[in-house]
Amino acid sequence: MNWENNVRRVVPYTAGEQPQDPSVIKLNTNECPYPPSPKVADALRDYDICNLRKYPDMNITLLLEALARLHGILPEQIFVGIGSDDVLSMAFMTFFNSGKPVLFPDVTYSFYDVWADLYKIPYECKPLDENFNIVKEDYLKENGGIVIANPNAPTAILAPVSDLEEIIQANPDSVVIIDEAYIDFADEKKDSCLPLIDKYDNLLVTRTFSKSRSMAGMRIGYACGSKKLIKYLNDVKFSFNSYTLSTPAILAGAASVEDNDYFEDICNKVRRTRKRVWQELRSLGFEETVSHTNFLFASHEKIPAGQIFEALKENKIYVRHWNKPRIDNFLRITVGTDEEMDTMIAFLKKYL
Ligand SMILES: *Cc1c(COP(=O)(O)O)cnc(C)c1O
Repeated sequence: MNWENNVRRVVPYTAGEQPQDPSVIKLNTNECPYPPSPKVADALRDYDICNLRKYPDMNITLLLEALARLHGILPEQIFVGIGSDDVLSMAFMTFFNSGKPVLFPDVTYSFYDVWADLYKIPYECKPLDENFNIVKEDYLKENGGIVIANPNAPTAILAPVSDLEEIIQANPDSVVIIDEAYIDFADEKKDSCLPLIDKYDNLLVTRTFSKSRSMAGMRIGYACGSKKLIKYLNDVKFSFNSYTLSTPAILAGAASVEDNDYFEDICNKVRRTRKRVWQELRSLGFEETVSHTNFLFASHEKIPAGQIFEALKENKIYVRHWNKPRIDNFLRITVGTDEEMDTMIAFLKKYL
């Protein structure tokens, strides 16, 4: 039994449930309730299945070029992976090797500590303040790297770019990752750190097709940064798995990026529904953070979140709840269609 002494032991990340019952109202993993762009359907329909016999384009050129046009940057400033989880995990492996602790908030995406453990990277969690805002000063000390989700999950809170820029600027010796999985649901383009990649070569901004582009099942994520950062990421990728994205994923991803009007339209729909549900929940005695995402982070004035979570689940409405310090009295509720939200609100009105 000695081989077990030499196993890389990890406590894996727990993802939200994926129930197979189609009658469940699924508000637990922040998927978009609307279908992807019709151009995605066209691209997949037009794809000649015979071509599956060939390996995909390992440079993912078609998608890189589409994204480069979208953001007004060079293809050499973009790295694509199998969802942003793949991109983030690869970035941890590539950039966090100083032996000094990597810093991220205590309440944030719960995959960061899992990757740190997996790669044996030391880390320190910096407590958010009592309103779940980042304490900027905590990130102005020596460190081995920084990861900040903005807007943050599960709190839905957006940090000002000026604060993040100060952190990036103060840390020329480490890579700062800003995880912008939800930035498309913020109100203004100026809320993104993406424009800063030309100014700071230690900044990596990650994005995903899983939320705002309605393509969680396709597994596409990317990172933007200086040419140098991206080259290092590619060196690691090509030492690990040259063919990450499948050909259908590359084609579907590029088609989605080409249809910007559709994309803006569904993001606006989510924002409208979010605003309405925010008000409805307030009138039911919930308190929510100001959301810049496609989910709400809500706590009820009387009933414990765990209890509401179970009651919703019994009624086939799945939301997310964590038995973790600081957030165990909150629910994270994905913004679904107006109809799904009405069903949830009707239930809560009866239940509360
Ligand atoms: C959803 C999410 C991701 C990962 O999404 P992928 O589906 O792997 O692209 C990364 N970071 C945060 C904060 C997320 O919520």
